[in-house]
This record gives sequence, structure tokens and C-alpha cells, in this order.
Amino acid sequence: MPANIEIPLGLPEIRIIETEQSGREIVITIESTREWAICGRCGEEIREFHSYGRQLRLRHLPILGRPVMLEIRPKRFRCPRCEGNPTTTQKLEWYDERSPNTKAYDQWLLLQLIGSTITDVARKEQTTGDVVIGAVRRRIAAQVNWDEIKELGTVGLDEIALKKGHRDFVAILTTRLANGELKLLGVLPDRKQETVESFLHSIPEELRQSVREVCIDMHEGYANAIKRALPQARVVADRFHVAKNYRDCADKLRLEVQRELKASLTKEEYQAVKGTMWLFRRNPRELDKEESAQLALLFECAPDLKQAHQWREKLTGIFETDHTKQSATAAIKRWMKGIGSSGLRCFDSFLTTLNNWLDEITNFFVNRQSSGFVEGFNNKVKVLKRRCYGITNLSHLFQRLFLDLEGYRLWRQSTTRYGAHHASS
Ligand SMILES: [Zn+2]
Repeated sequence: MPANIEIPLGLPEIRIIETEQSGREIVITIESTREWAICGRCGEEIREFHSYGRQLRLRHLPILGRPVMLEIRPKRFRCPRCEGNPTTTQKLEWYDERSPNTKAYDQWLLLQLIGSTITDVARKEQTTGDVVIGAVRRRIAAQVNWDEIKELGTVGLDEIALKKGHRDFVAILTTRLANGELKLLGVLPDRKQETVESFLHSIPEELRQSVREVCIDMHEGYANAIKRALPQARVVADRFHVAKNYRDCADKLRLEVQRELKASLTKEEYQAVKGTMWLFRRNPRELDKEESAQLALLFECAPDLKQAHQWREKLTGIFETDHTKQSATAAIKRWMKGIGSSGLRCFDSFLTTLNNWLDEITNFFVNRQSSGFVEGFNNKVKVLKRRCYGITNLSHLFQRLFLDLEGYRLWRQSTTRYGAHHASS
């Protein structure tokens, strides 16, 4: 007895005429059972059957891992009321006229594309990159729909490099909605003040007023744009970027010391010391006993490095303490003073940053939970960056970032079996 199964096709108002297997492909010939269309001219329901249109071949969801093609000849109806009795092709909800895929298959492609690349999805689905890109264009809006957002609250402004090593940055605006979801608001062609400002001005007035704080990387242009377009919002220097800034300072010294030791030590001695250098960058509380001992040995060779390490950790400690803005400001000022009298020069550039941005940096302590999302977003973006290299079309970049950030949520929320909830049409 053959082991066959019967499963519903799941498309409404459809009759199956024939099912055949062609190689690995399953080809299903279907016909619409709907007996009417909407006249393209007068918009009235018309029921006078005219003819069948040209046959369409639509790719649909795979069955048991095998590709599925649907073949259908759309019905055409004639309008008895309009002059000249024009005919209209019946439109069905589960596919678009000019698409080679059903809507369900478009969504299937998008699901595969989350966390992946166009090339990879095309290869796995044995289709072309253009077909995958087509699904992105049809199903994902190229910009945010402000109507879907009630309130903005905290907004994050970050950037990603479009090409490895290039100074070619685009600015990315995100927000976290009241329910905790991360939402992409915009991808801007550059990080110039006027670009950011004009985008912020494009936010509907009421929403713009709802922005309470904006977390930014420390760019003058960003800060100025926010002050002008969102005067009520608090500017918060993103802790992630602040930390990177002072950690890089300490690391510069490490590289200097490394060079000096290379010149002064024997090859064997240097190799031993060099092997412990990575411990310097780690969080000291995460080191085991042996690693801590190795690090202490390194610090014996380089006392300056020990100092830089201590000051770096002291600052991290301030950010990890539950300070008020006021007490944090006092603590950071003490830190600045301490550095000044320590004789260490490696933090000089960071001291300048602190002098210029102290207000924004300590704004982090006003509402530290809310700025945490930018950090979370940063980690996500780090993963996305790789895949975004080379995407120079900003609309496409918006769609891809949108998909990676919100794709799974949309998939979960999908209530219709064959519709799209975010179609750009
Ligand atoms: Zn008509």
C-alpha cells in the first residue's frame, strides 16, 4: 500500500485541477472558484465571465522539501455597465499580479533571509538573487510608518560603515517601544548635522514632542541636530561609545609598552610577556588565579601599564555604580583630577572628551535603564554590519536592517495565512 498523505493546500476559493511531479518539482494546476471580479473602471462587482487569461506559474511553499509551482489561468470578467464593456482580470489576495511568487512564498524567502544573505538564500532555494530581492521590495516598506508608533520616548542614533575600512558611514535611528520591542526608524545617508536635523524634522509633530532622550555617539553634528530639532530631549552619550573611548586610550599605552619591551627584552622573554598582553584588555574580575598572576608579572615590567589599568577599571566602576547624575559628575571629576596628578598621558584625549561632553556623559545616570537598549542594539548591529558591507542602496539597507531586527516578530504576528502585513504597495 503506497504511503501517501493528503493535506489541504490552504488557499481560499481554489479548486485543484491536477497535481503532477516534474523532476523534484511538484506542479499543481489550480483554478479560482470565485465567480466575480471588481471592474477596473467603475469599481463595481462584475459577474459576467469573459475568458481565462494567460497562464501564471507561481512558486509556492515547499512540500516535504520539494519546490512547489502553482499554475493558474486567472479569470476575466466583463462589465455590463461601463461603456465598451471592458474586461477585468480577477485579483486574488494570495498573490500579486507581477510577482513570480505567492505571498506565502515571499514570506518564506524573507524568513530565510533573517540573519542571512541574498546570495545564500538564493542558493538554498535554488532561485536567483533578483527573486529574493523582489520579495524584500514587495513585502517590506522602505521607510518607517509613523502611524504605527504612538510614542517615541528614547531614541538611539548610531552609525554603521557601509564598506570595510571606508569612512563611509550611514546613520541609523532606532527606538524602543513601550512593550520593549526595538524599532528601526530610519537609515540616513550620512551623519552630517543637516541630514540628521532634516530627518528629525520629518517626524510628525506630536511624536517629535514625545522624544525624552536621545542616545548618541559623541558627534558634534548629532548633538547640534538634536538641540535644534528636539529641544526638549535630553542628549545622552552612549555608554558603549564612552567606554570604547577610554579603553582605547589605555590600549594605546599597552601597544607602546609592547613595542618598548620588544626592543629591550630577549626574544624568549618578549614572547612570554607578549603572550600575557591580551589579559590586559579583559575584565580583571573574569580572570582566574593563574591569569591574574601573569598579569601581575606584566605589570612588574611596566608599572605605567598597571596604573593605566587601575584608572581604566576605576572609571568602569563609576559607570557600574548606581549614581545620580550629580554624584556621578563629582566622581568623574575626582577621576579627572586623579589622572591629572598621576603623570599618565595616555588618557589626555579622553580628558578633552570629558571636558566637552561631561553633561551628556553623565546624563546616562539619569535614566540608565533606558539607554541600555542602545547597547543591546549596538551588539545586534555589530552582527549585521558584516552582512551590510557593500549594500549601498539605502532603501534596501533599511529593509534588511528592519528584517533582521523585527523579522521574527512579524513572522510570529502573521495572522493571515497568505497575506503580507507590511507590504509596500
Ligand atoms: Zn465597470
